[in-house]
Amino acid sequence: MDSLETILSLTDADGLKSLYRQAYAEKLRYIGPHVSVRGLIESGNVCAKDCYYCGIRKSNPKVRRYQLSEDDIVRLAEAAKSFGYASVVIQSGEIESESHTQMIVRVLKRLAALDLGVTLSLGEQEADVYKRWREAGATRYLLRIETANEKLYSRLHPADHSWRRRVECLRTLRKLDYQVGTGVMCALPGETVRDLADAIRFFRDEDVDMIGMGPYIPHPDAPLDGVLPLTRAERLAWGLKMIAATRLTLPKVNIAAATALQALADDGREQGILAGANVIMPNVTDVEYRADYQLYAGKPCLNENAGLCRSCLDRRLAAIGEKILYGERGDSLRYFERCKNAQR
Ligand code: SAH
Repeated sequence: MDSLETILSLTDADGLKSLYRQAYAEKLRYIGPHVSVRGLIESGNVCAKDCYYCGIRKSNPKVRRYQLSEDDIVRLAEAAKSFGYASVVIQSGEIESESHTQMIVRVLKRLAALDLGVTLSLGEQEADVYKRWREAGATRYLLRIETANEKLYSRLHPADHSWRRRVECLRTLRKLDYQVGTGVMCALPGETVRDLADAIRFFRDEDVDMIGMGPYIPHPDAPLDGVLPLTRAERLAWGLKMIAATRLTLPKVNIAAATALQALADDGREQGILAGANVIMPNVTDVEYRADYQLYAGKPCLNENAGLCRSCLDRRLAAIGEKILYGERGDSLRYFERCKNAQR
């Protein structure tokens, strides 16, 4: 295999096609023509963080803030289960409060009866909070590192946001026996090919189970400076290259075809699968809240309910010869190697 830097520097169409083909072959070899699904529940957009790139950062006054109730979250998880999604992801802005922590504990205890894989993506928390959520039934946690370059991280966030704390959180999650997911954005202003290659080396060195990556997409009310003048196709290509290079380096991890890919091209998620990804997270949040959870401009499926999303996904994946693994939790192969309690 060429060096990661060489792979990530490819720009010619033939070279890229051949890279995606190789990475997809690797996905077929280890995982087969299958895609795992997780119903995505966007449980709230209240956020204590002020990330310069994010549409729901706390100082964006245009956002109508919402927090789903315990009953709402459970109802959406039940709906996900009725669609055959055996795993859900509960994601929200970052809230470090005892009442929110307790609400999530209650949700997790109720979800135990549904026998679902539950991933949380609720930001940085104290070790004790992660522990309580793990004991209440969460099995996976997603916390993107955003960039592997600490200096670049500090330019994308206010001074009180700490890259090191994120790394510590990931290590804590690992110790607590979560399946750990992380990832970065690509096509960020000031980011180099070396930074992206370092991100893949970071995933390898931290031995993570799941990876979610996507191109940075500007948001009109987020103040990040120096946005690169890239076309949608060029942003998408960065996302696909990162997926392919990651699959070639880490053949057994779960890699998500992030929704950001679909924001850049109608068939962006399928292109992600054909570049080596194996997980899709169809949105099951009620339509009335979807527009309030816009991290970037152009979020897709704002008006499509979960049922429509499901039939659309079936059709799209069948068209590329892939099948959704309904009724299967889809733990990562890497996790199976480490842990005997993993579930298909
Ligand atoms: N509060 C949670 C969830 C964050 S939202 C947490 O901190 O983990 C999930 C991801 O969306 C972020 O980690 C970030 O990588 C991505 N994101 C935010 N703004 C974005 C943008 N403008 N373009 C693309 N991705 C973005």
